[in-house]
Amino acid sequence: MSRSFRPAIFALGFFLISLSAAVALASAPSGRADTSSVAPAAISGAPGYVSVRLRPLKGVVSVSGSDILIGSISRPGFSKIKIQFEKLKAKEEWSIFEVASDSSGGSDLGKKIATVLGRKVDIRGSGLRVDLRPSPAHVQLVVKGPRSPIQLVGFLDLESYLEGVVASEVPRDWPMEALKAQAVAARSFTLARVRERMSAASTQRSGKSVDWLLESSVIDQVFDFDRKHSRASEAVRATRGEVLTDSSRRPMKAHYHADCGGRVDLPHEVWTSAGDGSSARGSDGGVAEYGAIIDRGCAVSTRNSWRFVTTRADLSRELRRKQLVPSGFEVASLSVVTRTSGGRAEFLQARSVEGREVRFSGERLRAALGYSEIRSTLFDVVSGVAPSDSGEAARPVTVEIVGRGFGHGAGLCQWGSRQLASDGKTYREILSHYYPKSKIEQLQKSSEQNLARSN
Ligand SMILES: [Zn+2]
Repeated sequence: MSRSFRPAIFALGFFLISLSAAVALASAPSGRADTSSVAPAAISGAPGYVSVRLRPLKGVVSVSGSDILIGSISRPGFSKIKIQFEKLKAKEEWSIFEVASDSSGGSDLGKKIATVLGRKVDIRGSGLRVDLRPSPAHVQLVVKGPRSPIQLVGFLDLESYLEGVVASEVPRDWPMEALKAQAVAARSFTLARVRERMSAASTQRSGKSVDWLLESSVIDQVFDFDRKHSRASEAVRATRGEVLTDSSRRPMKAHYHADCGGRVDLPHEVWTSAGDGSSARGSDGGVAEYGAIIDRGCAVSTRNSWRFVTTRADLSRELRRKQLVPSGFEVASLSVVTRTSGGRAEFLQARSVEGREVRFSGERLRAALGYSEIRSTLFDVVSGVAPSDSGEAARPVTVEIVGRGFGHGAGLCQWGSRQLASDGKTYREILSHYYPKSKIEQLQKSSEQNLARSN
């Protein structure tokens, strides 16, 4: 384990300890669902920073910036560095080259200045760019396995990370109260997610280290370091340290999505089957903090209707490829068999030409056919359902799915939140609408100060 990663573990360890301390405070009177008037109580425990997998890299990695520190090598002033990974038998090493300042870079590796052993290399600096793109001031290059690509992992303090999340998740011209609601939901989701991942990591066999805790895609939250803008940053600053908490006063896993299509569902209904490949956001402990919500604006909108048409042959091939149906399975019909209380397709049934039946969840169908194709599970299969006793000729050649909304449909609806903000609601009222049983509380700053000392 490298020198630099230890503080992250410490920070998160502190977070967990602090959270158990926070539980002890939970007997204090708390007005559940009152997110508008009570002064936020202080709860302790925030990670000082988070580790996020930014993207895979290829070949020789170029790094530029000022006062670069790689492993134990420091380079004062501005410099350009190239880094090459090599695995020779059991030995993994990173060769570090310095490119002359008057060189344009290109294929010139420059002069070798150091070798760093191991599967990770730690890089710090100011104004850092990795393969020309702006990067956090502290990154790591990580190789997980023999044939794995190099992964770029960024370490950021929680609030800077959130500025990138809000900027990536919500358009900059949306009302400020919607951006603030997004900031608080994202902060809560992040802390709950980190807690979940740390807990999973601690049950793994020792010796297996965690290289990053968050993904920068929809698997967790979209995060793009380059995409920050002033309004997102303002929303994060205005709500600094505020989190939604559950009845145990732990930061809740505040799910959110783009467009509910008219009705927000309970998370445990959306992610109905364990081991479902699409349920990357995982099981949810915060069910009690949600309610079933009607979003009238989304229900009447024409913006969110979608339609997906395919042939039975293409559908069969895709379902086989994604292993939703066994090999040789030719879909004769597809139908929704159970729905959530919000009307989403919970389970579907595919029937084969020979009459075999296979069930899978609506979320798995989305994962198999593409999240931008099957934009939500609030859909109907309008053609493709053949009566079981009809002959081959009676079966439709195409399968047509029509639906509303975009995203999983649990927790805060971003388009609905935009509507509420345009109607003059505050971010606290918006959060109270989507997470009616939650409370907004203030994280203490002490954990960050502790972290700074530990570094
Ligand atoms: Zn909505």
